[in-house]
Amino acid sequence: MTIDSRPVFSKVALIGIGLIGSSMAHAIKRGGLAAHVAGYANDPGTLEKARAIGFADSLHDTLQLAVRDADLVVLATPVGAFGALAKEMAPDLKRGAILSDVGSVKTAVVRDVGPFVPDHVHLIPAHPIAGTEQSGPEAGFAELFDGRWCILTPPPGVDAHALDTLKTFWQRMGSQVEIMDPKHHDLVLAITSHVPHLIAYNIVGTAADLETVTESEVIKYSAGGFRDFTRIAASDPTMWRDVFLNNREAVLEMLTRFNEDLNLLQRAIRWGDGDMLFNLFTRTRAIRRSIIDAGQDSAEPNFGRAKKKP
Ligand code: NAP
Repeated sequence: MTIDSRPVFSKVALIGIGLIGSSMAHAIKRGGLAAHVAGYANDPGTLEKARAIGFADSLHDTLQLAVRDADLVVLATPVGAFGALAKEMAPDLKRGAILSDVGSVKTAVVRDVGPFVPDHVHLIPAHPIAGTEQSGPEAGFAELFDGRWCILTPPPGVDAHALDTLKTFWQRMGSQVEIMDPKHHDLVLAITSHVPHLIAYNIVGTAADLETVTESEVIKYSAGGFRDFTRIAASDPTMWRDVFLNNREAVLEMLTRFNEDLNLLQRAIRWGDGDMLFNLFTRTRAIRRSIIDAGQDSAEPNFGRAKKKP
């Protein structure tokens, strides 16, 4: 089998160079996927850090210069900023360019960005299902997307060549690509990502507020399970605020289901229904096994944390 090493694009513009934007830049460089990678940020400190790391060929504090002549432009800021950015860059987008994003919600992207996309530009929203709780340009690494899924949510009637090109791009970034309807994407991600984050934010907040348990006890005994929630609850506050504000319907629908199931568990504990608890916990253990079998996590005990010497 011959490995294609030709660039997919001449110029890729990354609008936002935090965890995802900078990881994309590293992966593009690793795979030789673009002749030129341009990065945009509005904070001079972010640009300085990116310059020091050196993952981009050019760095800009104006959108106009960043997107000029780019054949792929990727919005990689928190979702709440997408509409204003699209409006501002629209006149400078190259004819035939692909405008994409990495936002964690998709219906809102079509709603907010769609109206500003010129007829000669192809809007193809995307969501790489990969991330960490870190943020900023120093958090990025080339392997982030390896073996992960990237979901594309093209609008009906999208240009087939543009879709194929973006698909090839993400595959050569190391990902497997799936095509989905934006509404379905938002529902799936509500249960697999958004609600779990909300639960983590909530449980960590509750523990922090408990007056009968001191903060030092919460930290000291966190290995009992709590610390695994704190990893998720350390995720970027702006990004996650925007996710919940922009996937309201699907998150509320999944929360209703979650609350119903939680009530059943509460009832089982109250009435001593051990069978109900045992059967559920057996089913959930099997789901963990399926995630490992699918290569989406390590089978190592305790998430592969290094064993501490006694
Ligand atoms: P991040 O590390 O916090 O980076 C965000 C970037 O956006 C920074 O470069 C920041 O630039 C810029 N930015 C913030 N507000 C802006 C504004 N109003 N105008 C212009 N630039 C702005 O966040 P991230 O984790 O890379 O997330 C970026 C996107 O990826 C989000 O839409 C998120 O939903 C999506 N996503 C995240 C994950 C994850 O696990 N983190 C996974 C998949 C998808 P300055 O430093 O200059 O402010």
